[in-house]
Amino acid sequence: MVPALAAAIALASWWWAPSGDAALMTDRALLGLIEDSDLYAVDVDPAPTVWEHYTIAQGDSLANLWTNQWQLPEAALYTLLNDPRSADILRQVSPGQHLEWRADGEGSLLALRLWTDPSKGWEWNLRSGQLHRTALTYERNLHQVAVRGEIRTSLSAALAEMPSLGGRAQAIAAEMGELLPLASKARKGDRFSLLVDLEYIDDAEGAYAARLAGFDYEGEQISVRAARFDDDRFYTPEGKSLLPGFRRTPFNSEYRISSPFNLHRHHPITGRVTPHLGTDFAMPVGTRVLAPAKGVVRTVSYHPLAGRFVVIDHGQGYQTRYLHLQKAQVRPGQEVKPGDVIALSGNTGRSTGSHLHYELRLNGRPLNPMTASLPSRERLQPDELRRFQNQYAAYFDLHEQESATAVAGNGNRRDNAG
Ligand SMILES: [Zn+2]
Repeated sequence: MVPALAAAIALASWWWAPSGDAALMTDRALLGLIEDSDLYAVDVDPAPTVWEHYTIAQGDSLANLWTNQWQLPEAALYTLLNDPRSADILRQVSPGQHLEWRADGEGSLLALRLWTDPSKGWEWNLRSGQLHRTALTYERNLHQVAVRGEIRTSLSAALAEMPSLGGRAQAIAAEMGELLPLASKARKGDRFSLLVDLEYIDDAEGAYAARLAGFDYEGEQISVRAARFDDDRFYTPEGKSLLPGFRRTPFNSEYRISSPFNLHRHHPITGRVTPHLGTDFAMPVGTRVLAPAKGVVRTVSYHPLAGRFVVIDHGQGYQTRYLHLQKAQVRPGQEVKPGDVIALSGNTGRSTGSHLHYELRLNGRPLNPMTASLPSRERLQPDELRRFQNQYAAYFDLHEQESATAVAGNGNRRDNAG
């Protein structure tokens, strides 16, 4: 048996092991919150069923990606591996190959594609536990388009009118929404230009995939331009990251994980999927809880189930939450730096032992704080910056000239400071 497959099976059986009582109580508490508190209201609207994309990197294991990074149910992996031909194909997944998948609103896998080369691959469709495998042979074409426009009502409305986006306007608007707080800061008359990578297959009418490569947004409330670097994060022309650096855990020492993050955990009694949306760390009452990144305190409150809790917004759609606290050390609206003490851990609310429940969310979607790829640096290193600036020289220069024209034309001045 190849190591990846062995790891898949080992991991799957570990995942299915019933959890302890403490974890159970926390799950009930969280489920209760989903139903009766606006603290979790965001969970009612799960992610849309878009195709997710992933390029296999050196050292990746399918089992690891499947459960930790993509948060797909292990049962679907079993269904695939039970088909000998599919297992054969999947055990030959190698670095550079491209995987795509689509899940429904509850995180169940609907379809998986593996591109063994740019125009050939396999597609699996899962319907009520039944597996259908088909070979793919497509002609794929990549294009880069630049579009520009002005906000009248919203960015997505402005993009919807642009045929060159190949019908992918909503996806691009959503990507921009993750990078800039447009929901609150976009204003009528704001101007933007976007650089978008589009992929077409065969002679299909719409684009098969679209991805934002760069943008220049000049608005009344917010003016930013940035482009995507090799690491998939966005940086300004000066190499400053759009995301604050994040620490992995919000405390100084090491504490045992008493209950891991798991969107698909099966309840040992009801058999239903009972998500655990954060990571629980067993720690003594009164342990100092530290801000993992720069941010603004959004909420300090008490809930019968969550206990004393704190919510911090870190920008770009990132948010962290801290439950069952003994005491908060911050006030709503307060700005925090990485390492600032925000609270003392406790055992408040419905909790069976003293622990910290720590959550990380991106645009309302819970991420595993222990495995999520976190923004770790504030700016590019000099050699990276040179590479980045070369890559986007034409794009950034173009806008340099346009800004100059805009300044001359209407007296508006953009803030270019990095
Ligand atoms: Zn928890």
